[in-house]
Amino acid sequence: MISLAALKKIVGQQSDSKKPIYQGKCFDCGYVLKIETSKTSGGYGLLGGVLCESGPQNIFALCTNCYENSVESKLLSDFVKADPI
Ligand SMILES: [Zn+2]
Repeated sequence: MISLAALKKIVGQQSDSKKPIYQGKCFDCGYVLKIETSKTSGGYGLLGGVLCESGPQNIFALCTNCYENSVESKLLSDFVKADPI
């Protein structure tokens, strides 16, 4: 998931908006996303997709489908590693 600092960088330009929106394409399938961010007591909530950070300047978005698939495949590979047949 994305760090609060990186998210602030994205939404900083819209800081006067109560619900800044990140617009971009899903990194995996190219689906055009509008991810609504809203401030919560513990940080930020995301609606409509997932924002990920793979480096200081490398932020990308995933739709919920691709995010779930990537989580599932990671779990699967961990499982295979943990218990080889
Ligand atoms: Zn996708």
